[in-house]
Amino acid sequence: MKELRNPAALKALLGDIGDKARLLPRPPRLMEVCGTHTMALFRSGLTPMLAEAGVEMVSGPGCPVCITPNAIHEAAIAFVTGIEGVTLAAFGDMTRVPTRKGPLQAAVPARGSRLRIVYSPEEALEEARRGPDRPVVFYGAGFETTIPAIAYTVRQAAAEGLRNYSVLPALWLVPPALRAILEAGDAAVDGFIYPGHVSAVIGAGPYEFVAREFGIPGAIAGFEPGDILLAIRSVLEQALEGRPRVALEYSRAIGREGNPVARALMAEVFEPYDACWRGLGLIPSSGLRFRPEFAGFDAGRRFGLRTEAPDGGLDLAGCRCGDVLRGVIRPEGCGLFGKKCRPDSPLGPCMVSYEGSCLIHYKYGPERRGGR
Ligand code: SF4
Ligand code: SF4
Repeated sequence: MKELRNPAALKALLGDIGDKARLLPRPPRLMEVCGTHTMALFRSGLTPMLAEAGVEMVSGPGCPVCITPNAIHEAAIAFVTGIEGVTLAAFGDMTRVPTRKGPLQAAVPARGSRLRIVYSPEEALEEARRGPDRPVVFYGAGFETTIPAIAYTVRQAAAEGLRNYSVLPALWLVPPALRAILEAGDAAVDGFIYPGHVSAVIGAGPYEFVAREFGIPGAIAGFEPGDILLAIRSVLEQALEGRPRVALEYSRAIGREGNPVARALMAEVFEPYDACWRGLGLIPSSGLRFRPEFAGFDAGRRFGLRTEAPDGGLDLAGCRCGDVLRGVIRPEGCGLFGKKCRPDSPLGPCMVSYEGSCLIHYKYGPERRGGR
């Protein structure tokens, strides 16, 4: 682990990456799918060093707060403002996303209702246990990383006969989103750095179509700066050899098979459907909804909440989060970046979420380093 932070080792890796990048026919453009990788690269100062080495890094759709369309955020607002005596439990970042009705955190709950910030789905379940007469809805947002824990709370509530617990689902699957980005063709990605946490659940298999069908190399990375550099080097090596695959550069923590127990839990409670993502639109089999056996835990159904809008719940005027999430522009390419849109007055989710590209670029980008 120490080795992964050792400056001399990192420098050597960067040198190696630069040598390999120069051998490629054009400077490689790599997408880090996961917001935590974006954060790790910026915080450690590696993003500009990689640019000097000839590697452009672009952020992907790796943050559930950012890709949840406004229609679902607005359904959460409608729930807590429109129904008396209920509790909506949500992750903090989800409550700050701007919508056409303002952010959830500014909503005035109906009489006797309340909004609770929680750090895990289990906390929401615990809240439901404490007051069985009060309906508690967990605003469940997440990728494959978080979904097993949400499924667990639902199974647990079913086992305990808890009738006051339900989930407003905003559950997303990473591989179908990557396919949508590649099929759209405008992101011009030469390689992927796959997320460590998501891969710990799904394993390497679900990304293999990227190499097989699109001929694009990739590597699963951990979260130390050295982990990410190792993954980048592997992607460049694959490109040079002309043998794209899914390399596992995080084998100290995960195996190629992922976690079958977590996957079984997800599959027991939820089933795939064609879901709408912010910026990416409708993507086949990219979201999860309740299986009929667990439909009673679906807050949308239980409370008649409209989670779909004809326009998918568009970004606010001028906000280009959708293009940022597809890797088509960098945050600085949005005309509002750093001007009207800042962390203290965000206009889009990418400036709200801790893992959002706009916030990360604003906090750690070149202007900031220059002492703005
Ligand atoms: S949940 Fe994990 S894998 Fe997904 S964006 Fe966050 S850190 Fe990355
Ligand atoms: S800078 Fe703000 S308005 Fe522009 S894309 Fe990012 S979050 Fe949206």
